[in-house]
Amino acid sequence: MPAVLTTSAREPIAYRVSMAEPASHEYQIEMRVPPLPSRDRVDLVFPAWAPGSYMVRDFVRHVFRLEITDGRGRALAPGAIARVDKQRWRLATGGRAFRVRYRVFAFEATVRTSFLDDSHGYWNGTSLFFYVDGELQRPCEVTVAPARAGWKVATALPAARRRGSGQQLSYAAANFDELADSPFEVGTHALHTFSVGRTRFELALYGRTNADPGRLRDILRRVVTATGRIFGGFPFDRYLFIVHALPVGSGGLEHRASVTMDIAGLSFDDEAGYVRFADLAAHEFFHAWNVKRIHDSALGTSRREDPERVLATPRDGLRAAEPHSVHALDYTRECYTRLLWLYEGCTDYLAHVVMLRAGITRERQFLRMIADDWPKYATRPGRNETSLEELSFEAWIKQYKPSENFTNRSVSYYEKGFWTAMALDLTLRLENGGRRGLPEMIRRLWDRFGRRDRPITDPDVRAAAAAIAGRRLDRFFDRYVRGKNELPLPALLRRAGLNVGARAEWDEDDKPAAERDPVRSRRARAWTGLALHADRTTVRNVIPDSPAWRAGLTFGDEVVAVDGVRTTAATFAKRIADHAPGARVRVAFFRRDQLAEADLTLGQSPERKLSVAVDPKAGVRAQSVRRGWFGVPAAGARPRR
Ligand SMILES: [Zn+2]
Repeated sequence: MPAVLTTSAREPIAYRVSMAEPASHEYQIEMRVPPLPSRDRVDLVFPAWAPGSYMVRDFVRHVFRLEITDGRGRALAPGAIARVDKQRWRLATGGRAFRVRYRVFAFEATVRTSFLDDSHGYWNGTSLFFYVDGELQRPCEVTVAPARAGWKVATALPAARRRGSGQQLSYAAANFDELADSPFEVGTHALHTFSVGRTRFELALYGRTNADPGRLRDILRRVVTATGRIFGGFPFDRYLFIVHALPVGSGGLEHRASVTMDIAGLSFDDEAGYVRFADLAAHEFFHAWNVKRIHDSALGTSRREDPERVLATPRDGLRAAEPHSVHALDYTRECYTRLLWLYEGCTDYLAHVVMLRAGITRERQFLRMIADDWPKYATRPGRNETSLEELSFEAWIKQYKPSENFTNRSVSYYEKGFWTAMALDLTLRLENGGRRGLPEMIRRLWDRFGRRDRPITDPDVRAAAAAIAGRRLDRFFDRYVRGKNELPLPALLRRAGLNVGARAEWDEDDKPAAERDPVRSRRARAWTGLALHADRTTVRNVIPDSPAWRAGLTFGDEVVAVDGVRTTAATFAKRIADHAPGARVRVAFFRRDQLAEADLTLGQSPERKLSVAVDPKAGVRAQSVRRGWFGVPAAGARPRR
């Protein structure tokens, strides 16, 4: 019956999401799968991870009351349903339509999971929806029945059509990837909108905040404008910022036409709150290109192989088949990439460049950030233990599942990637008089790969760098991305027209000498190598070979006294600072409820404070590198507004 075949090839998989009892935190899902005449048996699969967050989370553990029937709700034949593994059911459907009903317990209020209570509902498709193996490219449709009259729906998906009466709204996704990549916010959020060119931007703001919404909108407008300038326009007509104002902020998760950001709602009592918001927004919005559209084949469905590449390695039989193959994103297990340093490190770094160019931060703040944060990175004991490529590859088992010892033997690919991205930006600009750097390199990857829906590879990244620099930079990549060499950042900063010097240890916030506290200035900074949890006195980390390490303190010890005086998280550092480096102190602590004591010989922190400032005597070449870096027009000394 050809007519049926034609219909079923286009018929979407339809999902219905209800939330009739929001206080139960349970979504009720119904999934209707149309006839799939070419499939006698189908695998019904639940995703194990959410793209952008590289950890297997086994979302299926929140699924219960699973009910699989035929299309009319009648039981399937005995033995027609077999659970194959934790997240896969094999159904003998004989190609006929079937229906799946289940509930999802949604009580994880993070950007990467799902949540429902009587104030709102939020979900990521990866933690709510089954898919049919092999049918990821089939269109999907979602109908939402909000919990209450008056609840609105915000999502990047376009509306499909109204179904039935009242509150139910339907949304269309081109395929499962788009469904999974389009989070929903359902509730009484405030909606703010603005346009840049012909692209409409929406901010759906949930929760209690002391932020000025007009200011947030202005920040978003500046961020998207400056980012759009890097990429030459926007690859979407509409983009949605879902912002959850919560007691504690926990970051964002990027999507192709939207983002979810969880921010500390009451943290806008100073300018720093707005800068943090801008930083997060700039980072996440940059991802709309870098990782969501510019990515390797592990991290996204690629519809076409590169014909040139297939021709370059001719193997009989492959030539004709591969250029049009679909490499589907695998939702069931770890998807390994060596490029997270590019997706996260470069994005993190370029967010700072975007803020500078958008006039949200000033050159002075940018230099201060380097002065404050580089010394912290440059003294992390684990920074050169593992290459960036390896850190990326093992993100699934280390970054997202850190052991207590992570800080000592590893480092975040965000942080290492950030500094490597800055070093790469400067290395590129030093080759071309400052004109073209990392933004242009990413733009090139966008034009040649992302825009054309082609996946990138490690060699493509090196080739893009070579094109911007005008020569191969393999030495850079071999040493700092594939290898484990120390980044020569201070030397690069000097070549880019900055003065990089040591700041005296007791300098307070660059105050003039006359204004410094003389008592504080005189006190030397003794060092234990202990890091305590912020709100408790338990040990979070002990730096290898530090005084505390040699004295035998370890993770989880609860420090209670220094030289017989009770300490709290607030006073521990002060009691240590009562002594000079070289002094001995006695630290009392509990280990598994046993009181113990240890003698520490205090040392000196290896961390050296830096001062980073524009070098007024820098040569012409260095000055032009610096101007290009900050996006300053040739004559100006300040970034444009
Ligand atoms: Zn990111």
